[in-house]
Amino acid sequence: MKFIDTHIHLQDYKLISAPQIIAAARECGVNGFVCISAKEDDWAKVLELSTQYPEVVPALGLHPWHVRQATPAWAEKLEALLLQNPRAQIGEAGLDRIKDGELLPQAEAFEIQIQLAKKYNRVLLIHAVKAAEWLPRFWPLLKGVRFVFHSFSGAKDLIKPIVENSGYVSFSQSILRMKNVAEIVCAVPQNCLLLETDGPYQSLEKGTESSPCFLPELLTKLAEYRHEDTEKLAAKVYQNSKDLFYGK
Ligand SMILES: [Zn+2]
Repeated sequence: MKFIDTHIHLQDYKLISAPQIIAAARECGVNGFVCISAKEDDWAKVLELSTQYPEVVPALGLHPWHVRQATPAWAEKLEALLLQNPRAQIGEAGLDRIKDGELLPQAEAFEIQIQLAKKYNRVLLIHAVKAAEWLPRFWPLLKGVRFVFHSFSGAKDLIKPIVENSGYVSFSQSILRMKNVAEIVCAVPQNCLLLETDGPYQSLEKGTESSPCFLPELLTKLAEYRHEDTEKLAAKVYQNSKDLFYGK
């Protein structure tokens, strides 16, 4: 089975280096990574990793947690880098009501990144936490944008608008903590399904960094919940990731 980790912050590993993570992941069948940035400081690091490793697809963006600290020209800088780097996708961007209860300025930053995704036809990697109330105004804007709700562990009701708007749902190991994991996992059609670790974050074991080597186990668990053949589901999820991030 082959895997692509569609959301990993390779530049943020502390206990192990990015080259070590990539080498270990290869041994586990993970041969692609979408390396995600959260803030401006990450952009150069993510681009460097993607130059060093052709299997690393860079994603440049501004996470809702970092919007208030961004420099005034962040959006222009981001646009210039997107133009220079045709493989770069956008993210992570989005909305987080736990970290910041105010819709602005998060919404503005999110909207800018939606527009950039539309203008340059890049995939938009979305972080949405407790944002269900804020999302309805964004669905019309997301029309025609290829987007992913990353590390999905929201309400089952949210899956319907994502799928109806041709979006993707990406699961990390954190879905396994949900009480209604089976219900959520079964609600996502195969052709919208992606996998990720959000590494080094969201490890199931305290004090450790999550590893792409968990993806085979995660896929196996999802296949069990969905009553589907593990190899076939793995092949489909791999193909979804490949088509979306590496071109058909
Ligand atoms: Zn992330």
